Amino acid sequence: MKIICIGRNYIDHAKELNNPVPAKPVFFMKPDSALVIKNRPFFYPDFSDDVHHEIEIVLKINRLGRSIDEKFAGRYFTEIALGVDFTARDLQAECKEKGLPWEIAKGFDYSAPISEFIPVSELGDIHDLPFRLDINGKTVQEGSTKDQIFSYEKVIAYVSRFMTLKTGDLIYTGTPAGVGPVKIGDRLEGYIRERKMLNFLVK
Ligand code: ZN
Repeated sequence: MKIICIGRNYIDHAKELNNPVPAKPVFFMKPDSALVIKNRPFFYPDFSDDVHHEIEIVLKINRLGRSIDEKFAGRYFTEIALGVDFTARDLQAECKEKGLPWEIAKGFDYSAPISEFIPVSELGDIHDLPFRLDINGKTVQEGSTKDQIFSYEKVIAYVSRFMTLKTGDLIYTGTPAGVGPVKIGDRLEGYIRERKMLNFLVK
């Protein structure tokens, strides 16, 4: 399976990083070795001094598809999770400056904690889905999928023009504003609506 991550999919987040609002989705990938399940701890890497949290809604692809029409893209997922796209912001800045790929800043071990998946049918309107991240009991990121620049369907249509989507592939759909550093000892708790989805420690 592969993990596809959409960058700059919320206007307020693109602005906070001084990135232009994109005309087309921007995406990158993480390896499956980045995943952390069951609220296991995030181990802070020794190669970065500035790891940032990005809380994101995650789709699980449920069938094979390529060049998927946006009209039918909603049929390609039936479950949603909450994930964190941990980013070594210092390494990413260096990569951006030099025009290099982002893998070392985005795809490292433990960089993709993920919650259990919930059937879409239990979540109400998934196109207006509030989600948030608390650190040590204080809300640091809060958003709703209604503010996505590119909807789930647009993202699936766009990505599948370039690469076949397979059953089990994951799509991290971008983060709202409020990204910032984590430190060892922090407790991260993530919510979709009022349902607690993530609860883990930085070690
Ligand atoms: Zn992200």
